[in-house]
Order: sequence, then structure tokens, then C-alpha cells
Amino acid sequence: MNSPKKDNLKTNFKVYSYRNLSILVIINSTKTGETINVMAPRIKRLCLELFILLPGIFFGQEYVQTPDVHIKHLPEIVTINGKPTVYYELHIANFSDTPVKFTRLDVQGLPDSIPVFSVTGDEWQFRHKAAGTEKPLPDNVLPPGGASVIFMEFTLPPATKDKTLVHHLQFIHPENAEIKTVSFAGPVLEPHKTTVVLGPPLRDGPWTAIYSPDWERGHRRVFYTEGGKVRIPGRFAIDFMQTDSKGKLAKGDEDLVKNRYGYGADILAVADGTVASARDDFMESATISGHPRYPSGKATGNYVSLKISGDRYVFYEHLKPGSIRVRPGQKVKKGEVIASLGFTGQSTDPHLHLHVADSDSPLGAEGLPFLFEQFTLLGSYKDFSRFGEMPWTPVNRDSGQEKHRERPAPNTVIRFH
Ligand SMILES: [Zn+2]
Repeated sequence: MNSPKKDNLKTNFKVYSYRNLSILVIINSTKTGETINVMAPRIKRLCLELFILLPGIFFGQEYVQTPDVHIKHLPEIVTINGKPTVYYELHIANFSDTPVKFTRLDVQGLPDSIPVFSVTGDEWQFRHKAAGTEKPLPDNVLPPGGASVIFMEFTLPPATKDKTLVHHLQFIHPENAEIKTVSFAGPVLEPHKTTVVLGPPLRDGPWTAIYSPDWERGHRRVFYTEGGKVRIPGRFAIDFMQTDSKGKLAKGDEDLVKNRYGYGADILAVADGTVASARDDFMESATISGHPRYPSGKATGNYVSLKISGDRYVFYEHLKPGSIRVRPGQKVKKGEVIASLGFTGQSTDPHLHLHVADSDSPLGAEGLPFLFEQFTLLGSYKDFSRFGEMPWTPVNRDSGQEKHRERPAPNTVIRFH
């Protein structure tokens, strides 16, 4: 939809005072969608919230205590299999003195109220967790003082791209069973303005892009709290592991690290940038079984953080000891070899962990989406529990499918160019 010119808008603004609150109210708005489309995102959100709240303020409805809902981090859209896909989290807190049972969540796209996504029935067990845990809430009830998170990942219908999502969260207080709904607007979906598009981090393949939002304790669901703020640095992280063409992990004894495919592979700068930080003091065991367990603070193992723009840092983790060729402050060119794939830190197999974050901190930064300029999709693992034992299921063309400016889908096998 084209945005109307501001001078054509038949919209007036007034500031009302309600008790000590000054409230910006839109009146005479001819077309809500067009009106909000030309306003700054914060104003958009404020206005949308007011549309929802106004009846309660001006028509004297009874006070209904609702759960507190926040979207703490607004991700952009990332393209997977040609489809715009969004990941975010709803942080819920129950400030009331009664339990709250959640019954339904519906997400619609504005301005056309297109149904986009719903959470109902068994889906709650999978998506709704007590804060910081992998535990579903018993009977989907959040007790007084409780905090929880709803993990949201879904594909957007094309019409909702670059628009605002509206949430309708249905709940009951178990003792009276009256269904209530809290509605709120957000996030405002942004186009790919700032999603970084990266060159290959590795050469050739086949590389399996290992991640899944379905995993209870995968990168995507692991919160870290640092400096008083909770974040998910691995929200969009991918682990890359190499296999042979039959899907095997090693030539010979799989327990020997040196036998593993991909071990020692060149790690490449995905863009021009400056090395922000690096760590190279982790040793490596000769065997997979002899690898020590590391706490979260040592999860990265040897790593390099590459600053590729103002607030975009690419993290390469679990690097081979002694392989890091760059030092903090050094400028690197896209495609330059910066290190070798290794087996250090919190890891079960030699692999490259790659993620993009908004600051130079492995655990104290928000994970941001990224795309690759180009790769060939070779196939996928339908049952990832058989990874390393079985070949992947190939795509329907022997030579694979060329992908441009996409994120590999979960547990797909790709080749870099
Ligand atoms: Zn990882």
C-alpha cells in the first residue's frame, strides 16, 4: 500500500488530559491504516494502543486487571524458503492476586485484520514457558507473581509484511471462568532495511545448518541476563556441521576429533569489517568423549567477534586453538580466512557457531536476523535425531536449489559458493 502524502490526511490530533495523563487522540481519521502508516513507529504503537484502550477510558467500563505483556525485542522479518518469517517473544507477568489461565492467543495483521497466527490447545505446552525455564505452566495457569514467555515464530501472509501485528490474548481467572481478552498492538514489522546480508562463513559443503525453534533448549530459547537485562543472543544462531555425501560425520573413528569432517576448515569473514574482540585461550581434547563440560560463561570457546556495521557484530565460536589469524582492531576483507573450525567451549561436536548480535558481547547482546547472499540447498533432515547416521533427503533436483538473500531453513543441508 502506498503511503498517502501527509498534506492529504484528513486526520486531526488533540491532546486530552485524563487525570494527570496527557493523551494524544486521533479524531476524524478517514482510514486508520493509511493514517498510522505515515507516522513514526512509536506514535503508531501509541495510537494503536489508544484505539484499543479508549472505550475503557471514556465510557467508564469496569476495571479489568489483565496480565502484563511486553515485547522486549522487536525483530525484523527474515526470509526462509522464500517466505517472510518473524521470531519474537511475549513476556508475561501476573501482577494480580489471582491465578490467570490462558486459553487462546490470536495474532492479526493491520490494517486489514488478517489472521496471521494463533496459539490454542496443545500448542500452549510447547510455546508458553515459565520465565527462564523449559517448563510449561501446569494447566497453562500463571500464578500471582508469576512470569512467563510465549515464544512466537510464524510465517507472515504477504499482505501483512511491513505492517503492524495486533495480539488478542484470551484468559480467565479460574475461580470465575469468565473469559476476558487483553488486546495490544505490536510489533511494527519492518522491511529488510537493516537485516544484514552475509557472504559465506565457510567454503563449499555439504554443511548442515543446525538449529530449530522447536528445540526446548536450542539457541533460540536460551535467555541470558546481564547488566539487568534479559536477552537471547542466539535467537538466530546457526551451527554448521559438515558430513560426507552419505551423511556420515567422520572418516574412521568418529570419536577422534581429527577424523571429523569440517574440523580445521577455513572460517571466512562474511563481510568487510573490524575485529571487535577475540579469545584464543581454550585447549581442545583429542576425542569427542574426552571433551570437558563448560559453564555458560565459557560457552563460546575460542571466538572472534567481527564488527561489520554500527551495531552489527558477527560471532564465530568454538574455533580451533591457535588458529585465529586476526587481532582486535584489525580490519578484514570479506572472504578473508580468519580462523579454523574447531571444538572448544560448550559443544558436543566440532562445528562453527555463527550468530549476529547488536553489541560486542557473546551473552549480553540481542541476537539479530541475518541472510546469506547465496547458497545451494541440497536437502534436509526430516528426522534430525538420525543426523550423522543417515543421508539427508535431497531436494527434487540433483544439483540442488539456488537460494539468494535467504536464511537456510532449520536442519537443511547447503553448499556455499
Ligand atoms: Zn551454537
